[in-house]
Amino acid sequence: MTMYPWQASAWTQLQQMRERMPHAILFHGPAGTGKADFLETFAQALLCENVRPDGHACGECASCGWFAQHNHPDYRRVRPEALEDEPGESEEGGDGERKSKSAKAPSKEIKIEQIRQLADFMNISTHRQGLRVVVLYPAEALNMPASNALLKTLEEPPPGTVFLLASNSLDRLLPTILSRCRKFALPMPDHAAALAWLKEQGVPDADSWLREQGGAPLAALNASNDGNREDMDALLHFLARPSPDGALRSAEKLAKAELPALVAWTQRWLYDVFSYKLSGTLRYYPRYQKEVAALAGRAGAAGLLRAIKAVNERRAVADHPLSAKLFVEDMLLEYTACTA
Ligand SMILES: [Zn+2]
Repeated sequence: MTMYPWQASAWTQLQQMRERMPHAILFHGPAGTGKADFLETFAQALLCENVRPDGHACGECASCGWFAQHNHPDYRRVRPEALEDEPGESEEGGDGERKSKSAKAPSKEIKIEQIRQLADFMNISTHRQGLRVVVLYPAEALNMPASNALLKTLEEPPPGTVFLLASNSLDRLLPTILSRCRKFALPMPDHAAALAWLKEQGVPDADSWLREQGGAPLAALNASNDGNREDMDALLHFLARPSPDGALRSAEKLAKAELPALVAWTQRWLYDVFSYKLSGTLRYYPRYQKEVAALAGRAGAAGLLRAIKAVNERRAVADHPLSAKLFVEDMLLEYTACTA
């Protein structure tokens, strides 16, 4: 789980609430500053069976294990369908295949069915009589029927259940929902802290990205990773059906692409293949499920781990390779070998 340096004092402050947990906390702050990650980190800590003195989850107990596998029985995450297509770091509109114009765009709203599904979840008893945690964001995505349904739940909170909501703009929420939640502000980092963090992530030209995104570091990171859509299509097309010839052809095409973006996309792709191999789920590129499944069936776990490690190492040099074309060729050939 991720927590950002600028959230450290908010984290400490939040721990004081744990003695008497409110049944609903509404975290608010500017978009693109890492609120969702903060909520999920806190959710894991609330569910952890062996929480550390600083309030963080141990990362080792059964509960933490389920959480990491995204199948904790006492945890639910509610967000718009449009976000399910994307990783936490956004790939606006998904991952390349925009041919299906006729297909319905994924909803940007949180719908009433999603709130209704929570009712079933809250009716079954929890694992080891622990807490049950619901994370929901962004709260302003709740459409009116969903807001009203959630309000009913907040008015009669089921025992042992904690709601963690996040919002970018409190003035877009129903006052009745606001009145049912304890509010908790999450800060915007100052420019220097945000810039330092972006540089750590290897973002080239971090200062201008940060300024373009109004100082919101995660928004800046996403924008810098977005790169060029056509490049992404070409890369994913290759990753889906790797071959040595294809690697050379694709490298030719992609030599002028944003290299850090190519590396980031390849990383996510490999995470998907690996996750599919382990648990039959994938996170980043659901539209390529068929291809990911085929690769996961064919590639060995050891080879995939090797590929992930190699790509992670490439991230560090992606800013200034000696030759862009060789850099891409190398990466794609290595990928081909590891997934063969
Ligand atoms: Zn734990």
